[in-house]
Amino acid sequence: MKVARWYNNQDIRIEEVPTPRPGPDEMLVKVISCGICGSDIVEWYRLPRAPLVPGHEIGAEVVEVGPSVKKFIPGDRVFIAPKVPCMQCDYCKNGHYPACTNITERLPGGLAEYVLVPNTLIENGAYRLPDSISYDQSTFIEPLACVVRAQRLAGVQQGQTVMMFGCGMSGLLHVMLAKTKNCRVITTDLNTRRLELAAGFGADIIIDAAENVAERLESANDKKADVVILCTSAMSAVDQAWKCVDKGGVIVFFAVPGPDKHITVPLNDFWTKEIQILTSYYCGPPDIMNAIELIATRAIKVDDMITHRLPLKDTPRGFQLVLDKKESIKVIIKPNL
Ligand SMILES: [Zn+2]
Ligand SMILES: [Zn+2]
Repeated sequence: MKVARWYNNQDIRIEEVPTPRPGPDEMLVKVISCGICGSDIVEWYRLPRAPLVPGHEIGAEVVEVGPSVKKFIPGDRVFIAPKVPCMQCDYCKNGHYPACTNITERLPGGLAEYVLVPNTLIENGAYRLPDSISYDQSTFIEPLACVVRAQRLAGVQQGQTVMMFGCGMSGLLHVMLAKTKNCRVITTDLNTRRLELAAGFGADIIIDAAENVAERLESANDKKADVVILCTSAMSAVDQAWKCVDKGGVIVFFAVPGPDKHITVPLNDFWTKEIQILTSYYCGPPDIMNAIELIATRAIKVDDMITHRLPLKDTPRGFQLVLDKKESIKVIIKPNL
């Protein structure tokens, strides 16, 4: 079978490897759709494991199951999480699924014609797709689950003012999710095309990030934001975010600057205003279930975000499209096209 192996963003090779055969408690799935995530192009995050086959937004069809697999049969349409928490350790019990100490197995990357699914993922990380979710739509389950979790941790509530920095795919999903809660949604980005898209997806106020964002926010809205969500790793956004959060508000680092970057927190000011800073990394099983529900019921409509569908051999181009951010929102690779 063919896989796309990532060495770095400029060096992605289509390689031939043996098609795996499932052991007694494993299953083989055929990847129909796999999204390229914004995190797939972050070299500081991915390089330590390179070369690797990326892809964790996988919609697939079960083609072969080992004799002791009872949960799925060939022909089943599935979404598979890239890793699953144990749900038993103290971290899991406290809802910090991504910090689970017992995660040992990871799903092989989805930018491949086939993926061998280990048993722990079959049991706790594979979800049968409802008929109302297409394979292409299923590539949004994992990113939306991360968005669901971030807004849950931030306690986003009906009617709040929620502000997103960065209108890439995650920022747009945040916009749509906040609109399902009737929030007043404000977005800012340097890319004006993306800002217009955000308006199309429901953002009430869009602000060009080249302007004085805090001033524009206060003149366009009668208050600052209750929740600020950073969906960009740009350092300039962090400084602006500090100025846009209201008293008692929350700032969520959904994306973070690179490991070599240090940020200064106006702690004294935040202390008197009781401003919280949160991080949200990845998602957990309850968020995945919630995301499936949101997509299946069309509460979140994802189709209009898909800008490119490419065959596996065009994976290098897919990465370039995601990297240069100009014409793409969601790039989906179709390994078996
Ligand atoms: Zn992702
Ligand atoms: Zn655990």
